[in-house]
Amino acid sequence: MKTKLTFLILIIIGFYNQFHSQLKSNDTLKVCTEIKEYNFSGQKIAVLKREKWSAGQVLKVKFLGGDNFLQSKVKQYAVEWSKHCSIKLEFITSGTAQIRVNFLAGKGSWSIIGKASQTYSINPETNESYFSNDGTTMNFGWFNSDTPDIEFSRTVIHEFGHALGLIHEHQSPSAAIPWDIPKVYQYYQETQGWSKDEVDNNIFFRYSRGSTQHSSYDRYSIMHYAIPAYLLLDESFSVGWNTSLSDLDKSYISTIYPIATKKPKRPKNNNDDSHVGDVRGGIH
Ligand SMILES: [Zn+2]
Repeated sequence: MKTKLTFLILIIIGFYNQFHSQLKSNDTLKVCTEIKEYNFSGQKIAVLKREKWSAGQVLKVKFLGGDNFLQSKVKQYAVEWSKHCSIKLEFITSGTAQIRVNFLAGKGSWSIIGKASQTYSINPETNESYFSNDGTTMNFGWFNSDTPDIEFSRTVIHEFGHALGLIHEHQSPSAAIPWDIPKVYQYYQETQGWSKDEVDNNIFFRYSRGSTQHSSYDRYSIMHYAIPAYLLLDESFSVGWNTSLSDLDKSYISTIYPIATKKPKRPKNNNDDSHVGDVRGGIH
């Protein structure tokens, strides 16, 4: 079990295509993609349940680059998930961190999924993983001083969703998107330079119900790709750019990492309820 876990890693890699002029829309530029690596036996395992952290865990986050502005924007939006679950983030400047953030320009935006980041890092030059707890586990490759807040929100929350173990929503077992398959192959070949296998892997592959915990399909999830109508057989399934947590994102993460609810204190003396549920003094 330990061996399987050790050699399993799921990585999200985003590619920043710099050839703007070749694209039909700038919206296609910043696509986060998945690369999966398997253990030495070649056995394919997509076990996102195993990539979950423990509820209530405090994850240490360390920056390996970036100026104060970029770091402050990541801090600002990364904590959005923590408002709705029991995972907390602690930003540190020294020591070992479970999430190690870099800002390598042109290297895409991506994150290791979940707790594999404790033992693995990614080589940004090759997008390959290696055994290390001090290399990059998350990269933001298209942020700069001109990046608008809405883009910080969209990308930071998305990548930290991966860091918490979440996969892309369009690859959820509950997704049933009516892709126009030949158009999808052509579109991602032209806009991202993807091979057929890469399109299969990043678009059409769906995780099994057994390997994941999942909500009902949520087109408004921050973890969803934008899907233009012309890639679909039914245009009503098109998805825009989601830039903040959806209502279902918020409720779902609260079930994955539940916030412990304290039982109300019972008075030792049943006749004395003066301190039970009395919050009036603190609310005005
Ligand atoms: Zn992603």
